[in-house]
Amino acid sequence: MIISNSQIELINVTHAYKTAAGPLPVVNELSLQMAPASFTAVVGPSGCGKSTLTRLIAGLLIPDHGEVRLHGERVTSPRSTVGMAFQNPVLLEWRSILDNVLLPLEIVPNDLNRSAREERAGELLAMVGLSGFEDKKPSELSGGMRQRASLCRAIVHRPEVLILDEPFGALDAFTREDLWQIMHALRTKEKITTVLITHDLRESVFLADQIVVLSDRPATAQHIVVSPLGPDRVVDDLYTPEPTKLLAQLRHQIQIAQGREVA
Ligand code: ADP
Ligand code: MG
Repeated sequence: MIISNSQIELINVTHAYKTAAGPLPVVNELSLQMAPASFTAVVGPSGCGKSTLTRLIAGLLIPDHGEVRLHGERVTSPRSTVGMAFQNPVLLEWRSILDNVLLPLEIVPNDLNRSAREERAGELLAMVGLSGFEDKKPSELSGGMRQRASLCRAIVHRPEVLILDEPFGALDAFTREDLWQIMHALRTKEKITTVLITHDLRESVFLADQIVVLSDRPATAQHIVVSPLGPDRVVDDLYTPEPTKLLAQLRHQIQIAQGREVA
């Protein structure tokens, strides 16, 4: 990958939290590159520093050493042009689904008028299969539907970067696979540079272009692989030989990261 072409770059990023018991090193000399419109999945042991990495990319944390760059520009403060979605969709119950999706357009400066905003939100809701649910309240929707609305809200303002921190983790297996296919369609259409944190190796191989295995805390890039799946991927492709081999390789890397196997 060409460095100057990267949308997101981490260069020797090192960070420790200041705690009462002293500094807790969480990220160590981490270097990563993500090309424009690429999809990167990050996997690693629980507590290794994955969510910390998302905060560093979003500018919510500034590293002690090294730097994070977006389009070659050093990140020194929180970015309004980062979209985020989490395991818990955190939709506002007093707003309709449409008004929840419109929220970022009310906060992030843009020149869309009300009808253009509604058109944009409506298009996204249609893409994720939520046409007809615009006027419902979040509690009237299933968990999978709420997470689909949350994805729409995360990208409605066309963020430069989309950060997904285990967004499908709380869903049942079948709903999750539906969401993978929807997420893949969204990223193909919207061309957003995306970083996905996940515990699910199949999810990482299905959704990503590159998969980064982090070591145990303090996290560093232990292993980086490229997904063999092409742009027209479907979930069944995961059961073909190449992805199956890659999954075994990733499982092995996770065991190394957890200290259960020597490299
Ligand atoms: P992951 O998302 O990989 O599970 P996190 O990035 O959330 O891990 O956390 C990495 C480590 O840093 C954990 O040990 C966690 O307890 C600790 N940690 C997270 N946030 C803070 C904070 N604000 N202050 C101190 N320690 C923190
Ligand atoms: Mg986390």
